Amino acid sequence: MNSADLFQRSLVVSPGGVHSPVRSFRSVGGNPIFFAKSQGAYIESVEGKRYLDFCMSFGPMLLGHRDPEVTEAVHRAVDTAWALGTCEPYSLELSEWLIERLPFVDKIRFVSSGTEAVMSALRVARGARGRSLILKFSGCYHGHVDSLLVRAGSGLAGIGSSDSAGVSAATAAETLVCPLDNEAELENIFNMYGSQIAAAIIEPLPANYGLLIQRPEFLQRLQALCRKHGSLLILDEVISGFRVGLTGMAGLLGLDPDLVCYGKIMGGGFNVGAYGGKREWMDLVAPLGPVYQAGTLSANPVGMIAGLVTLKKIERLNAWGEIEQRAKRFEQFFADAQSKHNLHISVVRQGSLFWLLPNPQGPIRQLTDIPEGLAGWYKGIFHQLLNAGIYLPPSAYEVGFLSMAHTDSELERLALGLVDAARECS
Ligand code: PLP
Repeated sequence: MNSADLFQRSLVVSPGGVHSPVRSFRSVGGNPIFFAKSQGAYIESVEGKRYLDFCMSFGPMLLGHRDPEVTEAVHRAVDTAWALGTCEPYSLELSEWLIERLPFVDKIRFVSSGTEAVMSALRVARGARGRSLILKFSGCYHGHVDSLLVRAGSGLAGIGSSDSAGVSAATAAETLVCPLDNEAELENIFNMYGSQIAAAIIEPLPANYGLLIQRPEFLQRLQALCRKHGSLLILDEVISGFRVGLTGMAGLLGLDPDLVCYGKIMGGGFNVGAYGGKREWMDLVAPLGPVYQAGTLSANPVGMIAGLVTLKKIERLNAWGEIEQRAKRFEQFFADAQSKHNLHISVVRQGSLFWLLPNPQGPIRQLTDIPEGLAGWYKGIFHQLLNAGIYLPPSAYEVGFLSMAHTDSELERLALGLVDAARECS
């Protein structure tokens, strides 16, 4: 078995040979590698080559691949609890654990993906407010929900047009798009459409078009405008939830969202998403209220058990503090290694998320700040590192992920690999 043959076969049976677009290596060129094994910070290709992984399944693996405690719990779940469609104690335990810790979540509903969580939260907001417009921000990704596959509106308060075929103009027209980091445009949009906006949704740490760290004042202004105009504030913490800290960006910045969406880490690597928030809104959800939302696979016991064990372990180890210390040592080591060769790669980082850029930059907070030529530069770096057995996300605009399984020596290997790659590419 080799990756090239498997990819040729996959091209026949699946669109682009993949089951989610970024996996295809389209933006870095070449054919994707097929991986058959994973452990800790490593993934192993079908050819038997081990790669040090910084893509980490795009986010769920804060403890590393196949953490032993999670693995043991999953075995237990499969052996005992693998039934669906009835009430069970596992989702209750996870709900209670979460609600005890998340001050802005009174009630929670589990679904099977981040996309589903966002889609459901939008429905609750529309049901709550009896309004149809949703405000989103350029560059924020919220899963493949029809109405949110809209990035850039034209003009000041643009009504969106979709980035994807298959989304009706009527659906796209229910989405307003505002640039990140721009209070003036935000005010304009609320002044023009405020009474029609059911909710504003934002990634409080936008991490799907590079890592566009926002000024807290911008997010606070958004919250204030939502309150003033009676629009719900939905924080999409599918990536940042349980990654930047126990209470996510909401907790770090002291925000008070109406609804929050989770996924990734919360399922410990299994198919789990969730939306939750204030009782007033969550009590609108069926069977209690008129907003219908359901799922055969919702709250699947394997995901519930894996999620709870993952979250408890992260809390017990204070994984956030530990990874922060390691990341700081990495930054220092990398800076020293670069200065020996007069290199200037910059690393934008928040907690265990990082994004690589070719040169020192001022703060990059919105799409127009992103330097031109990034994709071409990254392509070279990506393939050099791949040859050296280091797997970065296969797109210049995807962020890298650190985990508890990345020790100092793995991080030093990344730093030295980047230096070598940059020298080869220059
Ligand atoms: N929201 C954010 C911020 C995401 O990053 C993603 C996925 O990457 C989603 C929603 C969608 O989650 P899923 O891929 O589980 O549907």
